[in-house]
Amino acid sequence: MDRHAYQAALPQVGMKGQERINSAKVMIIGVGALGSVVAELLCRAGIRDITLCDYDIIEESNLQRQGLYTTGDLSRLKVEAAKEHLIAIDPLCLVATIAEPFSSQTDMRGYDLIIDGTDSLDARLLINDVARRSDIPLVIGTASGTRGMVFAVTGSPCWQCVMRGKSATDDCDSGVLGSATHAIASLQASVALRVLLGDAPKDLIEFDAWNMELRSILVERNHSCEACRGLYQHLSPGLRFCASATRALARAPRVLHLDKIKEGLQVEKDYGTAILIKLGEGTALIHQHGTIEFSGVDGAEAKRFAEKMLK
Ligand SMILES: [Zn+2]
Repeated sequence: MDRHAYQAALPQVGMKGQERINSAKVMIIGVGALGSVVAELLCRAGIRDITLCDYDIIEESNLQRQGLYTTGDLSRLKVEAAKEHLIAIDPLCLVATIAEPFSSQTDMRGYDLIIDGTDSLDARLLINDVARRSDIPLVIGTASGTRGMVFAVTGSPCWQCVMRGKSATDDCDSGVLGSATHAIASLQASVALRVLLGDAPKDLIEFDAWNMELRSILVERNHSCEACRGLYQHLSPGLRFCASATRALARAPRVLHLDKIKEGLQVEKDYGTAILIKLGEGTALIHQHGTIEFSGVDGAEAKRFAEKMLK
């Protein structure tokens, strides 16, 4: 029996719909808790042209929720490990990888759909701007704690309309439930298939995987939304910093020359695209793409270090 027979048998899909799915070209930005699960579901659903964009490496603390990876993948680039697993699932799936942060310069030609799997407030606004500018549908997912949201941007209203001028302040949540990120990723995959079949849901969906609450929220166009007026102000984000009790994160949209940085620091581990250094009682993982992840470092000290490095 055909690999996709059970899906094509659905009245919502059919043979025509399955052909549409098989011929779609999708970019997945961020292949962590959300993106890796969406990638797997879309690959199994029959999407055979997938581009994965992520600069990150797989750490042990990712394995609690990042469904595509195993212990054998530790320290590998997420896009490389994900590519291997997707091709093992469906050898006919063409997988391209971009091991860099997504930017307004990323080539978006030919894509039918973008999946936001970044779980970063900043990146999401940038992706929203790029999707609106290139007129490509976008399926956004967010997850934190036990809950999350899914929203399809197919024109107006867009994600910036949802945010209604609220600025991105904190994406340093310290806890997240693996079943919540899987549930949100699963909803994202459903929405993605509906978008490709010309039946994009209009509502924003909010789901709590602990209290079992699902809400559909009608989003209206925000008439002061810049993106909906063709003004894309998030295409070049500046330095951002956030800290929680356990970790801190700093991001600058520029490449860091690790060889130079290494000279003045004591390097604990060198991953090629990132270096781990000791900082006070804790550590800092410095990525070449301009993100620094701090662990066990006082917030003020982390901020001082980030400003010095990312200036
Ligand atoms: Zn908008």
